[in-house]
Amino acid sequence: MTISQLSRKNIQALTPYQSARRLGGKGDVWLNANEYATSPDLNLQNRTFNRYPEAQPQQLLERYAAYAGLKAENVLVSRGGDESIELIIRAFCEADDKVLYCPPTYGMYAVSAETCGIQTTTVPLTADFQLNLAEIEQNLEQVKVIFVCSPNNPTGNVVKREDLLTLLEMTRDRAVVVVDEAYIEFCPQATMANELANYPHLALIRTLSKAFALAGLRCGFTLANPELINILQKVIAPYPIPVPVSDLACQALDQNGLAEMQQRAAEVIEYRTWLINQLQSLPIVAQIFASEANYILVKLQNGTNVFKTLWDQGIILRDQNKALGLSNCIRITIGSEQENRRVVEAIRAISAK
Ligand SMILES: *Cc1c(COP(=O)(O)O)cnc(C)c1O
Repeated sequence: MTISQLSRKNIQALTPYQSARRLGGKGDVWLNANEYATSPDLNLQNRTFNRYPEAQPQQLLERYAAYAGLKAENVLVSRGGDESIELIIRAFCEADDKVLYCPPTYGMYAVSAETCGIQTTTVPLTADFQLNLAEIEQNLEQVKVIFVCSPNNPTGNVVKREDLLTLLEMTRDRAVVVVDEAYIEFCPQATMANELANYPHLALIRTLSKAFALAGLRCGFTLANPELINILQKVIAPYPIPVPVSDLACQALDQNGLAEMQQRAAEVIEYRTWLINQLQSLPIVAQIFASEANYILVKLQNGTNVFKTLWDQGIILRDQNKALGLSNCIRITIGSEQENRRVVEAIRAISAK
């Protein structure tokens, strides 16, 4: 047997997540991973590295809880929000259980399920990118975990609160509902955090990678009731959060860090409006979908051509052409003022041809 044949069958069959970095490109304008354009200025305070870190750094839990309006017992910190996705699947799904998600959406729900050898059921979003509740209800057999992304990546819209509440009622005592709030800082009023008290099977995913501008830190959170959090504690690695990570994350969540994050989010929203205004008058732009996040989804007359032309100019966007129902669509991260201008000029130049 070759080494490849020795690996698990589901891993042999697995198409790994096409992360923005893995896709490569020689760019100087990176608008493909929903990162922030510049880094916050943080400095290591704790320089004691000989000891293992706290399994769940208490100060970090407390700061995130305070920010989210919850208690430390409602918070689990992990290596990015991505680790939370996998922990939930590992903790809740038996071999013959299923994970349900609603495409077009974030790719890691499928990749994590497949990595764990768990089958997936998909119920596509409706034409306006909302939940198809009737169809979900028909497909709950063996489903243990449901992922809903809101604001949804890559479409940018928020899922209706009313629908999420219906979903939570529908799944009580049956399945865990995970609402992925990676972009919630751009529309904080949409959070489901205030519903945790009512739903023991609700979990929220959060991250410092987007509005906090710390994708390189690899720090994310799960918010849920203590019973669910304690289950995830059982399956997470013993010391998942390096000392420098919790040290810097605590700074990002202090009063000053939170104020800077809010400033950043406000600026991104302003640039988003500008970018939409510039693009919507161009003849090759067929549609710009409304967004509550730090990116916009744009449908073009020839999306692949636009994506490739900009790629060759060092402007790296995220092609969504292969995502369900998103042919000719490109996702553009809101960048710096200058980066946004570069994108507009490049697309305008194609339009003029
Ligand atoms: C970015 C993102 C995450 C988490 O990213 P991490 O960097 O692992 O924290 C989770 N869900 C969605 C939808 C995202 O876009």
